[in-house]
Amino acid sequence: MKQTPLLDLKAQYAGIKEDVEKAVLNVLESGRYILGPEVKALEEEVATFSDARYGIGVGNGTDALVLTLDAAGVGPGDEVITSPFTFFATAESVSRLGAKPVFVDIDPKTFNLDVSQIKDKINERTKAIIPVHIFGQPADMDEVMALAQEHSLFVLEDAAQAIGAEYKGRKVGSLGHAATFSFFPTKNLGGYGDGGMIVTDDPELDSKLRSLRVHGRSPKSKYYNSLIGYNSRLDEMQAAILRVKLKHLQSWNEARRKHARLYDELLKDTPVVTPFAAEDRKHIYHLYIIQAENKEGLMEHLKNNGVATNAYYPVPLHLQEVYRDLGYQEGDLPVAEAASKRTMALPLYPELSEEMIRHIANLVKVFYQ
Ligand SMILES: *Cc1c(COP(=O)(O)O)cnc(C)c1O
Repeated sequence: MKQTPLLDLKAQYAGIKEDVEKAVLNVLESGRYILGPEVKALEEEVATFSDARYGIGVGNGTDALVLTLDAAGVGPGDEVITSPFTFFATAESVSRLGAKPVFVDIDPKTFNLDVSQIKDKINERTKAIIPVHIFGQPADMDEVMALAQEHSLFVLEDAAQAIGAEYKGRKVGSLGHAATFSFFPTKNLGGYGDGGMIVTDDPELDSKLRSLRVHGRSPKSKYYNSLIGYNSRLDEMQAAILRVKLKHLQSWNEARRKHARLYDELLKDTPVVTPFAAEDRKHIYHLYIIQAENKEGLMEHLKNNGVATNAYYPVPLHLQEVYRDLGYQEGDLPVAEAASKRTMALPLYPELSEEMIRHIANLVKVFYQ
């Protein structure tokens, strides 16, 4: 039986092998391995791609969040409002700085922050909001920015899953005060190792982040330190690989969108709920998330037929064991809790064949018959 993975990175590699190998060999021979010309070029290219002024390469997407919140002055005693329906790193970055994540329930259709519930959670300790463009669809940024302006809050877009997505014709990364990307291998733009980047239009934030990623080094000189920083740098090899891949990102995202439309069409008459894509946004389907009755049964059925699936996210963050002392109870954020019981990803990647999508959709139909 043919096995279909959730994501096929080997198939992607086969299509770009020559260019990637050339880029990697160039780096090996260059003698520059960390924060060199490839990183600088990638920073400019990703900033341009996102309609932002500055790009700052760092070690991974989690560090990108931590360093940005740190640079924005988030620390002990502060509260940061975010979504409970995201990868753990979003809230972890807040906790890592000694601040407190405050969770707001999500919209049942988009799974993004329900912006109508943010206002009630803002108080004098609130410092920032982190909207997460979950699964590749931009959050309601106009509403978030209006609240932020009214209450002088910092807005950090967690765009780890959404590089290339658009909101009302504007690129993700240009919507908040800063945005973070992850180059973890499975992301839409993934390296062959860890990597991350922050984009912003703010020159002060840019220079602070450039300092923080290298131990808080003073802009003046190497062994003079003006901040307590981190060691979180992007390496030349990853940057060179990512530069090759960035050239394909737009067409890969388009292929994902095309596949998603086919799934949508084929699954229309089944009991599963296909992803809602708002008309004024460009969803890039980092994951194709359906809502299914008897999710475990469907996952088992697909697995028995050689099709990999995964549950995103099985435990909303406010109910994570480590956050017990934040005091949330089951029932506090009912939409996120209901979503976590029903949501799962079907295979979706640019190289996936139309034939396989039809086959998978058929397996879903058969399961519910
Ligand atoms: C992947 C991801 C991160 C973390 O990125 P890493 O590069 O794995 O550290 C943060 N937030 C979201 C929403 C993610 O999907």
